[in-house]
Amino acid sequence: MTQMLIIGPPGSGKGTQASRISDRLGIVAISTGDIFRANVKEETPLGIEAKKYIDKGEFVPDSVTNNMVRDRLKQPDAADGFLLDGYPRTSGQVDELDNILAEAGTQLDIVLQLTADDEELVQRLLGRAAQEGRSDDNETVIRRRLALYHEETAVVVNRYAERGIVATVDGIGDIDEVTERIMNALKSVTA
Ligand code: AMP
Repeated sequence: MTQMLIIGPPGSGKGTQASRISDRLGIVAISTGDIFRANVKEETPLGIEAKKYIDKGEFVPDSVTNNMVRDRLKQPDAADGFLLDGYPRTSGQVDELDNILAEAGTQLDIVLQLTADDEELVQRLLGRAAQEGRSDDNETVIRRRLALYHEETAVVVNRYAERGIVATVDGIGDIDEVTERIMNALKSVTA
């Protein structure tokens, strides 16, 4: 059983790799962004609350997010392991995830960090924006999003680095090649 996180910058192919890892390891992939978006679409009370923040590009408050994750991790499909994507994003969320797992007598096994050169990511994201006709995704916006990503993740990665559970994998290259790199990096904990 593997309980893990995936962290990676926009444009690093994190979503694709997350679904591959979840298939290969037979663990459920849980993306807080996806859960929020689904709730916004369905106009659930959680979605209505979360939308206020998501629309402004802000974090949904920890109280809301933590409860949502706590409930999600209690579902039977998460009992055999999980791959969290998009959570924890703050130091408070790191603490809360520790609490949730400690209550179940478990802990996080590994934090997989996908890395990529910012210039490469800017080019990829610009290419994607042009293809999808997203003119709002210009270089300034993309660079701001990347800077924010680095700022946000530093806190979380540092917390887990102290425990020696961060595995860093180069996310640049052929999709299959990156998957193999990840599976190799995970071998020691998933064996
Ligand atoms: P994402 O797709 O992971 O970028 O998430 C989309 C949006 O959902 C974010 O911009 C936040 O508003 C919200 N969100 C997702 N995960 C979290 C989290 N762990 N803490 C707070 N807000 C979150």
